[in-house]
Amino acid sequence: MKAKIAIIGGGASALFFATQIDTQKFEVQIFEQKKTLGRKLLVAGNGGFNLTHSSPVNQLVKKYIPVEFLSDKLEQYDNLFFQHYLKELHIPTFIGSSKRVFPVPPIKPIEVLNELLKVIKEKDITIASAHKWQGWNADYTKLLFKTENDQKEVAFDMAVFCMGGNSWQKTGSNGHWLNIFQKAGITCHPFQSSNCEMLIDWSHSNIGLFAGTPLKNIAVKSSQQQVKGELVVTKNGMEGNAIYALSNDVRTSLNTNGTALVYLDLKPGITIDKIIEKLAGFKNGNWTAHVKQQLKLTKVALELIRFNSDKFTYTDPDQLAHLIKNIPLKIYALGPIDAAISTVGGVALQSVNAHFELQQLPNQFVIGEMLDWDAPTGGYLLQGCFTMGTYLANYFNNKTVP
Ligand SMILES: Cc1cc2nc3c(=O)[nH]c(=O)nc-3n(C[C@H](O)[C@H](O)[C@H](O)COP(=O)(O)OP(=O)(O)OC[C@H]3O[C@@H](n4cnc5c(N)ncnc54)[C@H](O)[C@@H]3O)c2cc1C
Repeated sequence: MKAKIAIIGGGASALFFATQIDTQKFEVQIFEQKKTLGRKLLVAGNGGFNLTHSSPVNQLVKKYIPVEFLSDKLEQYDNLFFQHYLKELHIPTFIGSSKRVFPVPPIKPIEVLNELLKVIKEKDITIASAHKWQGWNADYTKLLFKTENDQKEVAFDMAVFCMGGNSWQKTGSNGHWLNIFQKAGITCHPFQSSNCEMLIDWSHSNIGLFAGTPLKNIAVKSSQQQVKGELVVTKNGMEGNAIYALSNDVRTSLNTNGTALVYLDLKPGITIDKIIEKLAGFKNGNWTAHVKQQLKLTKVALELIRFNSDKFTYTDPDQLAHLIKNIPLKIYALGPIDAAISTVGGVALQSVNAHFELQQLPNQFVIGEMLDWDAPTGGYLLQGCFTMGTYLANYFNNKTVP
């Protein structure tokens, strides 16, 4: 008799795990509450399916918070391993100018998902869709599911929980499992947004009128780091890859101080002295037109400068140059969880051992965004899910079955 593995949740981590588990050794079933699998993967693929990042592994590991939680596994199952795995699945990849890794065009996200599902079918893994996990029986030996017309108890030898975080609930990642885990005595932390909009009060300015306008070739700085990239002004703040990368710093500051201050550098390519030099030589005429032309600033950039300066600062080249490189952005909250690209919170890392096994429920494992870790966008989230799924599949494949 083969040992039975129940996979709960059918998103990215589940699919990476399932495609690599040895079905000669295990009987595997996936339980997914939606009618189809991998809905968030399809959403993630909208506008460019950024599967991983090509940075060298010593830099890759540093993107994960806390850094030590995944580093040994990332070194084993890194971004090259992931790209090789994808190639074997007939998904060749290429490295974009941002060093991010994408499927070679015209491969669509649905084709990536279908290749994963094809392997799962070939491996005789059963898919039980429209099965919502609702908890355990009294002694935690059976899983309870609600189906369209029924309730079910499912026995298992090993359970792998892959129910995701709490953003984009329409994809199925609704975080309803958190209460059930907490009631079972498993330490969990509340969900919070990550890689999300940062809320800034624009009410005393016209900046909100520029909602949707990008700020390109800028940098944002927290007390911990500086990130170059792009931002987009929103009605209520800012979003975009550059500021997403500061999510952890901003969240920590908000949780501690109730507010977070980051600085926007509108001209990261030139020094303060160079800006002063460019602004020198103004005789008379229109100062704003001179600043705009000399520094090639957009209307929204000028509005941000005006909002943060008085007349003296605005007309003094030295003070203005300092401001242009350090526009304060006072963030009062993170944007809504449901709109975030990812969430932190969920199962506390101390609730699992080094093999992602729940300390208090042997043979029950948790991987993916259910666990309380963080990483920026840029492919690091899916790489994290891949590394966890691959590690666990190989751990099972090499393990003596209970
Ligand atoms: C807009 C957007 C863009 C993104 N872009 C990228 C990107 O370009 N690159 C990148 O690396 N990452 C990206 N991500 C993040 C990435 O998609 C997630 O980190 C990843 O999908 C998480 O995988 P997971 O397996 O943990 O959970 P999910 O993929 O969220 O899957 C969880 C599954 O569990 C199921 N489930 C939940 N509760 C139950 C239950 N009670 N019973 C049964 N089933 C249940 C859900 O229906 C869902 O199918 C993006 C995310 C979003 C929202």
